[in-house]
Amino acid sequence: MRRSPEEIAKMRRAGRVVAEMHERTREAARPGVTTLQLDKVAREVLERRGARSNFLNYHGFPAVICTSPNDMIVHGIPGDYRLKDGDIISIDCGAIVEGYHADAAFTMGIGEVDPEALRLIAVTEDSLAEGIEQMVDGNRLSDIGHAVQSVAEAAGFSVVREYVGHAIGTAMHEEPQVPNYGPPGKGPKLRVGMVFAVEPMVNMGGVGTRVLDDGWSVVTADGSLSSHAEHTIAITDDGPEVLTV
Ligand code: MG
Ligand code: MG
Repeated sequence: MRRSPEEIAKMRRAGRVVAEMHERTREAARPGVTTLQLDKVAREVLERRGARSNFLNYHGFPAVICTSPNDMIVHGIPGDYRLKDGDIISIDCGAIVEGYHADAAFTMGIGEVDPEALRLIAVTEDSLAEGIEQMVDGNRLSDIGHAVQSVAEAAGFSVVREYVGHAIGTAMHEEPQVPNYGPPGKGPKLRVGMVFAVEPMVNMGGVGTRVLDDGWSVVTADGSLSSHAEHTIAITDDGPEVLTV
């Protein structure tokens, strides 16, 4: 679907709320802090900015952010997990402003972190940046995932297949899906006004995933570390515009 400039303006406002949720949770994430405390920090941002949560009650999800430490890939439920020195954690945040959604995630290290884990985080961010570069009028949808996969695999990592990015607008998850892998030049043509949440999930080990008994938390099958980065991006006449900054 192609969005009008007025609609994109609302998504930009939702995106700014998400960016502030990132800023505040990043500041708060230190050794000894629980993931539930991070959720509280994010809730305060939503309340103060008069935005609604698109995560809370989504298929029964009980929080406004997802917190996924170490070998957890995505969809971790904030709770009594206490961050410790050397952890990495993905924090995924969303907001609704005037009926329009934004969705973005980042991964960070806690305290002193293994250099290879930091490289995993940096490569995930680079793969997202390369995917975003492809978001220009006239390209094809699969050019995004191809760019993401190329960066991640060139660095010796693997890209998750079961969970993907998505179009976003008046709902958080709209069609089409945006995979993080595949050949270039396939799928619908990208057009000005399209808005996607692009979200590479990159594993240090194999591609396999497993869902924990809580029904939400997705972890790597081999226990290797995983990193996640996401932005909501609009295709404009001037190229891609990241809305979640
Ligand atoms: Mg998303
Ligand atoms: Mg997200």
